[in-house]
Amino acid sequence: MFEIHSLRIGELYIPQGGKLHRDPVHVWLVTDGENHILVDSGMADIKRIEEMLKVTGWGGGHDALRAKLAEHGLAADDISHVVLTHMHFDHADNTDLFPNATVVVQKSELFHAIDPTPSHRPYFKGHIMAELLSRKRPKGLQLEDGDFELLDGFRVLHVPSHTPGMQVPVVTTARGRAALVSDLGDHYKYWFPADARATDKPTRYLGDTFMAGPIRSESERDWIAAMQRVVDNSDIVVPAHDFRIPMHMPTDWWAIPDSTEGDLCFTEPQPSDPVSF
Ligand SMILES: [Zn+2]
Repeated sequence: MFEIHSLRIGELYIPQGGKLHRDPVHVWLVTDGENHILVDSGMADIKRIEEMLKVTGWGGGHDALRAKLAEHGLAADDISHVVLTHMHFDHADNTDLFPNATVVVQKSELFHAIDPTPSHRPYFKGHIMAELLSRKRPKGLQLEDGDFELLDGFRVLHVPSHTPGMQVPVVTTARGRAALVSDLGDHYKYWFPADARATDKPTRYLGDTFMAGPIRSESERDWIAAMQRVVDNSDIVVPAHDFRIPMHMPTDWWAIPDSTEGDLCFTEPQPSDPVSF
């Protein structure tokens, strides 16, 4: 049985229609007390993000990750595996902090990072690829080709959608199976598009289905099928960039949030927000 901690390591402020869309950036610590696994490794320090992408925010980088792990009494060397849901810059940076861990990625994701769908070009960064390729094989880098089981109770589904090598860990806890869906529907609105608890713009005609996200490598139908496969194989989904996700599972446990309150993505960044770690 595993416990899952959602580590909020920073935020991105993404300009969208004259406003700033706030995306919290999460990394997940999955632990059974003996094995400590990270799902995703987050983004670089916000200063580097600003230089690379002209996007503001706070946090990120080694300091943020170290600080969050320390809250759980862990150091980077305690992490055995880093499972990357995909290789976009806000999910797969900082792997150099874990030289002794095994980084686990789909083979198809590595190839896509080298030759991305054109609209994905800004999201893959050379230094992230270079770090992965510099790792000792097979101990430092484990390439997968489809679904697999990392450990008993830690299953990974290969679900091409947002990227060709997208993979979703499904983790068994005392309450049930939590799917860490990352950017396969990175907000609850994509999973419950007709439900007023999930979105302030419920779309009635999507009542029996899901909504695909805007950044895709596959067709809308393939994306929806991927979401269906995750739902068929899990009890709750945990999206990557929603403010309302459970921060500790199974203590916090919900399939859908109570309301759109707490969804801060269109609120103004606050002066009280941290600037860095
Ligand atoms: Zn992404």
